[in-house]
This record gives sequence, structure tokens and C-alpha cells, in this order.
Amino acid sequence: MININDTICALATPAGTSAIAVIRISGEQAIHIVDKSFQNSTKERNILSDAKGYSAHFGKFYNREELIDEVIVTVYKKPHSYTGENSAEISCHGSTYIQQQILQTLIQNGARMANAGEFSLRAFLNGKLDLVQAEAVSDLIESQSKSSHQLALQQLRGGYSEMIRTLREKFVEFASLMELELDFSEEDVEFADRLELQTLLQRLENELTQLVDSFALGNVLKTGIPVAIIGKPNVGKSTLLNVLLNDERAIVSDIPGTTRDTIEDTLNIKGTTFRFIDTAGIRHSEDTIENYGIERTYQAVEKASIILYVVDISQTTIEALEADLHDLQQHVDFNNKKLIIIANKIDLLDETPAHFVEWNRYELVFLSAKRKDTIYSLVETLLQSVTLNQEPDKILVSNLRHYETMQRALIALEKIKEGMGNGIPGDLLAIDIRDALQELGSITGEVTNDEILGNIFGRFCIGK
Ligand code: GDP
Repeated sequence: MININDTICALATPAGTSAIAVIRISGEQAIHIVDKSFQNSTKERNILSDAKGYSAHFGKFYNREELIDEVIVTVYKKPHSYTGENSAEISCHGSTYIQQQILQTLIQNGARMANAGEFSLRAFLNGKLDLVQAEAVSDLIESQSKSSHQLALQQLRGGYSEMIRTLREKFVEFASLMELELDFSEEDVEFADRLELQTLLQRLENELTQLVDSFALGNVLKTGIPVAIIGKPNVGKSTLLNVLLNDERAIVSDIPGTTRDTIEDTLNIKGTTFRFIDTAGIRHSEDTIENYGIERTYQAVEKASIILYVVDISQTTIEALEADLHDLQQHVDFNNKKLIIIANKIDLLDETPAHFVEWNRYELVFLSAKRKDTIYSLVETLLQSVTLNQEPDKILVSNLRHYETMQRALIALEKIKEGMGNGIPGDLLAIDIRDALQELGSITGEVTNDEILGNIFGRFCIGK
């Protein structure tokens, strides 16, 4: 059960030693609790309780009589704080001893340690954020690339919450009218205009379908665009991955088929995250472990948005390459994927082979994974393949929970439409509408329960 009457405290900066650490406290008694141990530099006691919101105060922090540190306390008065409650942030010197002493003192004074995400949970319960926005705060903290940062910001500013809320409200009206009809069932009246309901359903369906479809892009922008590096053994896949990632993560060897498992790593190029998947070489083999690797290759291709098909240009012909690609396409679907052929080991040839230069069935990049300076054109090609697919202002869904809930909402809408088409009675229709309302409401948090909230906020860090 969620208890929001306590005053909670936690370290808001990462655990460990730092120049400065921030301890956060929130709840009805927050300022009073800090006051008990804080002495303002002007020597007046209890000054924080009289202080205005958004004010900062320099002074000494004591544990009983013992001086702990010189600190700055920022005061927030409800409802003008992140949580909507009285809050304070204590900026202290970042020794772990000081951090612990201050937290301990706050607890002695009547606060308790916050649970993971409890500050944000309170912000949500106090109406400062809806669920989509609260989740965006968590994404914002975790964002490590320009695209994931932009996605989080877009959702923090409201994203699709407003649209879903408005459509849901209209829907609620219909549900109420429909339920009113049930009270007059003997008189056979229709308060809810069926035509209007149909129009609303259609609009909702269109909007949700667009959002659901945007998840594919939203998700990869958030977690990194999956790039599968595939090709026959010994063509230089691991070497290429190493040079891209700039370290020795993948094992490079001369023995064919040594990269048996897949390795994943991310690379941030100009604000876009790519998630590279190195895979076992594709070849027919009796070795069961390696066959497992081939299966993994197919899976990697399935998951990838971009496929880098590496060949040893000194060892292959166009006919052989086309045959191999044809073979591969029998096993995996290349639709909606960008295929780039990497003609590797160009250093082994005296000149770039003209027939490959002229070959334009697929995009082809010549390089030598052994020479870093040759991989820039690949990096450029990678970046281009992403920017071409992106519409800058499009609202994208990047949160799995929203995506799944929207999918369920769409199924519920479909059921209503079907019911209306079959002329089912109003009371049954009202049940289907309630189901859809439930799903829609759980996206923004208008309908929720402790379990859902626990799940969402439990994933936040402590102090957020
Ligand atoms: P994988 O099995 O496809 O992952 O291939 P590796 O990355 O393990 O490379 C196989 C062999 O080819 C190693 O000996 C590499 O040093 C070598 N190799 C990789 N890239 C190049 C290149 O661009 N030029 C040359 N000359 N050798 C390369």
C-alpha cells in the first residue's frame, strides 16, 4: 500500500564520493525536519520554515551537537515543487560519511528513507505529472544519446498524453449516455448518437494506430538502432566491429567460425546510438554449436534495422555474392531493412575492382577493417540511412508499456466496432466501451492501481 503521508529523504546524486552531493527531502514535515538540524549563517534558528519557496540558504548542518558540514538548503513550498509537497534539497560536500550522517539525522528528526521512484510517484499522485510524463523523467535521466533525449523531452512536455486524454473524455461521455439508456431500457431511447460514436471510434483508432506504428522507430531511437554484421567466416566481421567500437571486445582469429556467440555493443555517432550485433559466420556446418550460431545470425538479421553484409573482396565474385545473398534471403526477410554490402580487405587488392564499382544492385562500401581511416564512408552511410527515415516532428512512442497498452486499446476498439456492426444491445456495448476506457486511462494514469504504479516507479532510481 502506498503511504504518502510520511516525509521521505534520499540521496539524489550517485552514491560514492563526489565534490558535492544533494540530499532530497519531501513531505509535509520536510522543511521543519531540516530546520531541526540546520543553523543559518545569520544564527537565527528555524528560519527555513519562514523562508519563501525557491530560496537558498547557507548554513551549518548538525547531528545533535556535532557539526557535520556547511551546506546550502534550497526550500520549496507546496505546491510549487517537483513532488507538489514541501521539499528541500541539501547540497553538502560529497563525502559518503557526510551523506550518511545527514540522511541519518533527517531520519532521527522524523523522515524515512524513500523507496525507488517515490518522489516521482508523489509528483504523479499530486497531479504534477501524468504517468507518461513521469516515465519520461526516468527516460530523460537515462538518456545517453541525442535521439533518446529528444524523445524523453517530447513526452515530458506532454507528447501524446493530451490527445489521449481529450479523446478519452469524449468517450467517457458516450459511456455515461449509454449507461443512462439502460435505465430507460423499456422506452427504447438512444441518448448516445451512434453515428458520432462511430466517428469518435474511427478517430481514436487512427491516432492509436499511428502511435503504435511509431513504436518501431521510437524504440530503436531510444535503445539504439540494431545493426547486424553478418557474412562468411574470416571475412573480417569481428575486426570491423572492433574498429567501429574501438576496442578488442570481439575475439579476432584466423580459425573460421570462432565467433560463435553474438556480441552486442553500442556506439554513439553524432547523437545517434547504433547497437551492433556481431554474429557467427554463415556457412553450412556439421558442428552443432556453430549451427546454433547460424541460427543466431538469422535471429540477429530478423531483429536488425540495418544489415552489414561483409565480404572479403579479394576472395569473392559478384556471382558468388549474389548467390549467397539469394540463399540468405530464403531464410530471413529483408523487408524494411537496409542492406549494406561491406567489401572488406580492399588493402589486399591493387585497385578497386571496376565490376564491383559498377554493380549497383545494393549499396556497397569498400573498406579495410584493418585501416581505421577507410571506415569513415561506412559511418557516413550508417548515419544517412537513419536520417532518411526520420520525420523530425513526428510524435513517437518509445515506451513498451504504452505500446502494449495502446495495442490492447485497439483490440478493445475493434470489439466495440464489431459489436455496433452486429447491433449488439447497449448494455453489452457499454461493457466493451468500459474496457477500452480502462486501457486508455492506464496510459496516462487516470485509471491505475498500486500494482501498476509499483511496477512503473519501482524501476526508477532511489532519489528520483
Ligand atoms: P570474422 O570471422 O568474419 O569475424 O573475421 P575476423 O575479423 O576474425 O578476421 C579474419 C582474418 O582476416 C583476421 O586474420 C583479420 O586480421 C583479417 N582481416 C580482417 N579485416 C582485414 C582487412 O581489411 N585486411 C586484411 N588484410 N585482413 C583483414
